[in-house]
Amino acid sequence: PYVGPLADEVLAKRKKFLNPALFLYYKKHVNIVEGKMQYLFDETGRRYLDAFAGIVTVSCGHCHPHVVDAVIRQTKLLQHATTIYLHHAIADYAEALAAKMPGNLKVVYFVNSGSEANDMAMLMARVYTGNYDIIALRNAYHGMSAATMGLTAHHTWKHNVPQGFGVYHALLPHPYRGPFGADGKKYADDLTDLIQSSTSGKVAGFFAETIQGVGGSVELAPGYLPAAYDIIRKAGGICISDEVQTGFGRTGSHYWGFETQGVIPDIVTLAKGIGNGLPLAAVVTTPEIASVLAERLHFNTYGGNPVCSAGGRAVLEVLDKEERQKHCAVVGDHLLKRLHALKEKHDIIGDVRGRGLMLGIELVTDRTTKTPATAETLQLFEAFKDLGVLVGKGGLYGNVFRIKPPMCFTLEDADFLVDVMDHSMSKL
Ligand code: PMP
Repeated sequence: PYVGPLADEVLAKRKKFLNPALFLYYKKHVNIVEGKMQYLFDETGRRYLDAFAGIVTVSCGHCHPHVVDAVIRQTKLLQHATTIYLHHAIADYAEALAAKMPGNLKVVYFVNSGSEANDMAMLMARVYTGNYDIIALRNAYHGMSAATMGLTAHHTWKHNVPQGFGVYHALLPHPYRGPFGADGKKYADDLTDLIQSSTSGKVAGFFAETIQGVGGSVELAPGYLPAAYDIIRKAGGICISDEVQTGFGRTGSHYWGFETQGVIPDIVTLAKGIGNGLPLAAVVTTPEIASVLAERLHFNTYGGNPVCSAGGRAVLEVLDKEERQKHCAVVGDHLLKRLHALKEKHDIIGDVRGRGLMLGIELVTDRTTKTPATAETLQLFEAFKDLGVLVGKGGLYGNVFRIKPPMCFTLEDADFLVDVMDHSMSKL
């Protein structure tokens, strides 16, 4: 039985002592005290099916025993030494992570968050190419640090301060809302236009998530990335894939999101699912790019610390041993089938999209005008929670449900989730 403070007490303390810009998801707050694989428990012992994985962070499952054991073992032995001494954990883990990458992506930099990883990637692109301008996509989220706030393209996450100097945002190849539908190549033409109109003609780099996360599970139109990478490379830039949400087999069809479009980036940034909840992130690049960065020293106090390295390696082992990529494909396909059927039944569903366990359901009040059903999304969101299901919410208009559960989510969980959605939508 739980003996800690109750929700009201936690809320009062949070209001008094914590950053007031933190947001809470529900009107009646959920006070989580325990997690086990795809389930979360509140202080009354009530169980919730977690279809959002702490914002796509819990990959193996909450408190997966193999990851917990690896962390405890390393914590007892040595928590911290920094990279000024040798330690096997960071080296073993870098080897294991590099083995998961295609091509020449073999050099790993460890940091502590996705924002830091993207900061590092921005620096690499600029130092390596000698160019300054960086292109990202509209509706992207790449972090909230001083530098990445400029990459992020949602007003919600941008302060009214100088940010994004040298960053330009290209047209989003959004199959549902974009002007060219699912024709990826046509959207790529906008990149040429942008480079010609806003830069010297030379760029440092290009950032994209293959399936935008915070932006509402928007899968880039097919054919976009190969065309975009070509244009960027011709303009002297390098290509960066933000795999913070799409990596580690979550898309089911591939281990990395960029593989779904058949490209190999020059830099990959990783966070969230890489650590199953541990504060761990990484940048992976080629020896050629890394050698140019080596003109200066690199140091990061906690990056790749023994505890996170042991945990991160255990995450890779779990995902391999439990064949999670294959599992995401099976459960994801089933979910997509059922969600498409749900769309036939409920007019409020405008679009069902994504792959594997990286899905989105966009709600509209009218399928022709595609007017965002923001109020209804909120109402349904509360109704799902009342029935014991936690999903994510996203998109510029807050009208997209994001289904990105821990990767151990089962077919039965998927059916329960869709049944809850169906029931709640029928009552709307
Ligand atoms: N990139 C993507 C795609 C993300 O979703 C996020 C976090 N939502 C980040 C980068 C930034 O990660 P962090 O919050 O760890 O800084």
